[in-house]
Order: sequence, then C-alpha cells, then structure tokens
Amino acid sequence: MHKNFKNIEKVIYGRGSFASMESILSERRNDNGGFFLFLIDQYFKGKELETRIPAQPVDVVEFIDVDPEEPTTDQVDRLRDKIMQSKGIPSGVVGIGGGSIMDLAKAISLMFTNKGSSTLYQGLNLIRYPGIYHLGVPTISGTGAEVSMTAVLTGPEKKLGLKCDWTVFNQVILDPELIASVPKDKWLFTGMDTYIHCIESENGLLNNAFSHAYAEQSLKLCREIFLGKHAGHNPENDDKLMVASLMGGLSLTYSEVGICHALSYGLSKILGEKHCYANCLVFQHLEDYYQEGVREFKQMLFKHQVELPQGLSNKWKDDEITAMSQVAYNLSHMWNHAIGPNWKEKINIESIKALYKRI
Ligand code: NAD
Ligand code: ZN
Repeated sequence: MHKNFKNIEKVIYGRGSFASMESILSERRNDNGGFFLFLIDQYFKGKELETRIPAQPVDVVEFIDVDPEEPTTDQVDRLRDKIMQSKGIPSGVVGIGGGSIMDLAKAISLMFTNKGSSTLYQGLNLIRYPGIYHLGVPTISGTGAEVSMTAVLTGPEKKLGLKCDWTVFNQVILDPELIASVPKDKWLFTGMDTYIHCIESENGLLNNAFSHAYAEQSLKLCREIFLGKHAGHNPENDDKLMVASLMGGLSLTYSEVGICHALSYGLSKILGEKHCYANCLVFQHLEDYYQEGVREFKQMLFKHQVELPQGLSNKWKDDEITAMSQVAYNLSHMWNHAIGPNWKEKINIESIKALYKRI
C-alpha cells in the first residue's frame, strides 16, 4: 500500500528560465525522427512568447485552443495519427500551456509508442511501453499537472487519466514570467485548485508526514499569495504560486484528494465544467466536511472580489444530477480517504445529490 512515486526527472525554476529550452532540446534532436512536436496554447499565437519558442523548420508546431473542451482521447488519437503518418515518431513532445496542454503533451508522448486508441489506456498502469521524451512548461499555475503522474483525458465512456510512471515529465521548466498574463479570475480559480488539493490532502486517512510537509508549505504560500500583505497577482506572488502548485500536486500524490474533487469530476463529465472552476463551485458548499478550509477559501474570493454564481442546480435536470452523483460515487478512493473505509455507510447517491443541489 505504500506509494512508489516517479518524480519529474529534471526541473528548472526561475524568471527567464524559458530560454534554457533550446539547449535542453539540442541534446535530444537526434532521437527518433529528428524533430520535435510543440503543443502550445492558442492564447500565445501572435504573442511575444511565440517568437521565443526554439522550434526549427523541421519541427511541428501546433497551436491548440483549450477553451471549447478539456483534452479528449479522440483529440490525442487524431493528432498522434496525423504526425505518425506525415513524419513518424518525434524526438520529443513539448507542451507549453496550462493543465490542458500539459495533459495533452503527456498523453501523446505515451501514445507514440503504444498502439491503438488512448481509450484503451485510461486507468492505472495500463500503458505497456515507455513513451517518448516530454517536456512541460506551465503558463498558468494551480492544477499540479506539471508534476502529476496522470494525463487526464475525457473519453466516450469516462474522464480518466493515463496513469503510470512514464506519464511524468522528463523535464519541466518553471518560469514565473509566463503566468503574468493570466487574467484575474482564471488566476484565482486555478490557484484555488492548489489550495483545495492541500486541504483535501490534509483532511483524510492517507495524510502522512510526507504529504503534510508539502501541503503545509504550499498552504503557507497560498495564504501569502491570496491573503497576505502583498496579496494579488504580482511578480513576487507568481514566483510563489508556481512552487505552491508543484508542492500541492506532490502533497496529493502521496495522499489523496477528497469530496470536492469527486463532485467536481461529476460536474466536468456531465456538464463539461472546467476542472478548477468546477472545484470552486463545489468547495464553497462543503463546510460540513472542510469547515476551516471553506471559511478561508471564501475569504480569498472576497479579498479578490470574485463571486461564484448561486442557484445553478435549479436549472439542472434530475437525471443530470443523478448522473453526476454516480460519477462522484464511483471515485471510491477519494471517499475512502475523506470519510474512511466505512464511507458507504455514510454516503450514498442521495446524499451526493443533496450536495449537488446546494450549488
Ligand atoms: P487550461 O490549460 O485549461 O487553461 C485555462 C485557460 O487559461 C485557457 O483559456 C488558456 O488559454 C488560459 N491561459 C493559460 N495560460 C495563460 C497565460 N499565461 N495567459 C493568459 N491565459 C492563459 O487550465 P488549467 O486549469 O491549468 O488546466 C485544466 C485542465 O487540467 C483540465 O483538463 C483538467 O482535467 C486538467 N487537470 C489535470 C491534472 C493532472 O494531474 N494531470 C490535475 C488537475 C487538472
Ligand atoms: Zn484539482
């Protein structure tokens, strides 16, 4: 039952560290087909960062609009097939963007060496062969996708990650300059994902000295960033948020997330809500379970004058709420952590529906 976790192989941290990418990639340029695949958030098309991407004429650069939907198995399969047919297997994949782009980069790096559709590999340790080299550059901080061993994909049947040791990035570049342009609402919602990771990791069965050490430090940083004397989206705090996100991700890796993430998965799967925003919609109503955390979370929202909508569930159909509850209920590892091994005596579809109806 002890987790044996593969960490990121190499991490560069600091302002301007994005410039190191060229020399890092140069060591790999002769691998496989001798070209790199760059997956970049569409937001950066035409921005200054585009001119700094060290792509060579032989490389493939794909700008991806992450807003219509979270990454899908179909998207990964189509992109993999297109590149394989036109150029073969790349030397590596570089993902520049938020959790969506990082998950796409992680997933596609595995799918260049594992046959068939990515739907076959949604789950734990189903991937059969190591993927190709992959490098991640977060441009919005909070999900911890930069450090996690999962690449979350929405498939026709389930929203579930390709989870194994080979999913973890070979290299991550943490350059706080890149998150400066994130708009305030996204900055807060995504940052709150880190905060919620820590609260959930701390409040449950699987919390231990190792996960606690990361959560404690990440929470300290979150409090400085969102409530402290210099609270706000400024360079000093951007430096801290990148580290908080990484540490929050490490904390939950060695512990587990809880009730908020279980319900949030239901909202994403059935109604297509984005992960971080869905978490915020849910977390505000979980005071019965995370009393102190919810109180502080509300303080953070208030401080930054961001309001969450109320009464949303009035517009949801009963069968949608039931479907969401079923998704949440099936995440038994999260309930087990949050409530305990006898969680089924305390939680059922009806009690989960009641939580959704608070939203
Ligand atoms: P995202 O990648 O979906 O991007 C959110 C928005 O921010 C987009 O509109 C994007 O264009 C914009 N953006 C990104 N960087 C920007 C910048 N520097 N300036 C301006 N705008 C910028 O955001 P996310 O919340 O980081 O990721 C969500 C995804 O991550 C979901 O698909 C979720 O399933 C996944 N996720 C994965 C893990 C994991 O462990 N693998 C954990 C949590 C969430
Ligand atoms: Zn999360």
